[in-house]
Amino acid sequence: MRGRVVEHRGPWDMIIVGGGATGVGIAIDAASRGYDVLLLEQSDFGKGTSSRSTKLAHGGVRYLEKGDIALVMEALKERGLLLQNAPHLVRDLAFVVPNYEWWEAPFYGLGLKLYQVLAGRYGFGKSHLLSREETLERLPTLKIEGLRGGAIYFDGQFDDARLLIHMVFTAFEQGATLLNYAPVTGITKDSQGFVDGILARDAESSEVFRANARVVINATGAFSDLLRELAEPEVKPLIAPSQGIHLVFSSEFLPGDSAIMVPHTSDGRVLFAIPWHNHVLVGTTDTPIAKASLEPVAIEQEIDFILSTASQYLAKPPTRADVLSVFAGIRPLVRAEGAVSTAALSRDHVIHIDGSGLITICGGKWTTYRHMAEDCVDQAATLAQLPERPCSTHHLRIHGYPESTKRADSLAVYGSDGARIQELMAKDPSLGEKLHPMLPYLKAEAIWAAREEMARTIEDVLGRRTRALFLNAKAALEMAPAIAELIGPELEWDDAAKQKQLADFRALAANYILK
Ligand SMILES: Cc1cc2nc3c(=O)[nH]c(=O)nc-3n(C[C@H](O)[C@H](O)[C@H](O)COP(=O)(O)OP(=O)(O)OC[C@H]3O[C@@H](n4cnc5c(N)ncnc54)[C@H](O)[C@@H]3O)c2cc1C
Repeated sequence: MRGRVVEHRGPWDMIIVGGGATGVGIAIDAASRGYDVLLLEQSDFGKGTSSRSTKLAHGGVRYLEKGDIALVMEALKERGLLLQNAPHLVRDLAFVVPNYEWWEAPFYGLGLKLYQVLAGRYGFGKSHLLSREETLERLPTLKIEGLRGGAIYFDGQFDDARLLIHMVFTAFEQGATLLNYAPVTGITKDSQGFVDGILARDAESSEVFRANARVVINATGAFSDLLRELAEPEVKPLIAPSQGIHLVFSSEFLPGDSAIMVPHTSDGRVLFAIPWHNHVLVGTTDTPIAKASLEPVAIEQEIDFILSTASQYLAKPPTRADVLSVFAGIRPLVRAEGAVSTAALSRDHVIHIDGSGLITICGGKWTTYRHMAEDCVDQAATLAQLPERPCSTHHLRIHGYPESTKRADSLAVYGSDGARIQELMAKDPSLGEKLHPMLPYLKAEAIWAAREEMARTIEDVLGRRTRALFLNAKAALEMAPAIAELIGPELEWDDAAKQKQLADFRALAANYILK
């Protein structure tokens, strides 16, 4: 595969830098229009923000309040398309806004009705008010004192890293070439100063290679300005990075299948408590940060804020000792002059073209990746003077789309690939064993990840091909030696490589465990 990149004859139509939702979405769109596409990711696919989201395919209830109707409608439509094209990975979920004040029921009831109406034919379910008893039926662990009732609405939920890896394979199926562990280290220009390619490094062999393109697209999220600086050192920054964290608890804090949505926390954001893979995900914060990093770490104030806000709503207040995993992600928000807080910055996407011809796409959200990609490829094709071809992703099925009925077991997220994982277990029944008593993952999934899904490290398997690290970091640590034994032979690791992998994973997992 890497050889193919170096050998490619003539320039690529498009080179995309960044293997998160934005970049991979663009690779799918461009390749499905018939353009010749190369995507390079410096680490693993989804290592950035795209595996660290709240995992909601949503219109963004809170943007309604700001009157951003067009943004909400667009996202609601994309939410519907996502469910249509990846039914194995997206499901509808009930959200309850608990009401403790007299004015909350009419206020939120009306707003959520509007949210439902705006979705039109892409609707997920009807919003309505709940009595106090109905609210407690759905949320039995809610604080009872002062509870008046609730308002219910429906949105989408997905597994972000799993969707991303299936998008990577959708892009391959459409003819794109995608590499992980290939950081772009330079941007090359022609004699007139226009961007005409990239320099990149194979992170495993350290081999440096050059690739030319008619247009280069910067989809590096929170790192966008760093890549722009490689082309023009003096560029004005576009990104205002803001960190959000999530805490993960056992499902006893929120049994059942409904989520809690708190529309107004003291930092002006929404707080969600969501059932996810048999655990509860609580987040998120919005803290402006000076510099983006690939492995952001939760700040103590953020942890305290989530614990104290959750305690206002849950009958049994969660404590630090209850936290099974903590993870942070960085929103690549677009700078706006005069904005008072990052929560006030627009979540819409921006496509920016520098004087050198480098295209940068940033902002937006996971839910709208398809629309962002369509917009970006339209502009990139025009800039590169490529033949005009219409977008064809509205109804393009994502890899794993189940041809018959959806699976209901722990392999459901693999969609149609689930049958192939079962074949591995049929050949070697020991691969059907669980890797940890507290998590559903099977040995066969580790083999599958290394053999078929481009996993290169223990972290890739435990963080993104399965979600063990994000669900229960201590359990993930305990699983690491078994993962090394399983995937070591697949990836031709010698003993030293295995030991280094284990040490790297131990150091990384420490960031996900609260002391
Ligand atoms: C806390 C939080 C919660 C969120 N929740 C939701 C939600 O529930 N629903 C929703 O729709 N959206 C949500 N979002 C927004 C959504 O997650 C992001 O908009 C989206 O993931 C951004 O994707 P991206 O591809 O632009 O960036 P990223 O996923 O960060 O991808 C950029 C990639 O570029 C790579 N890269 C950087 N530099 C280089 C280089 N030099 N060479 C090669 N590769 C490079 C990085 O390694 C990275 O993988 C949330 C965001 C945050 C922070």
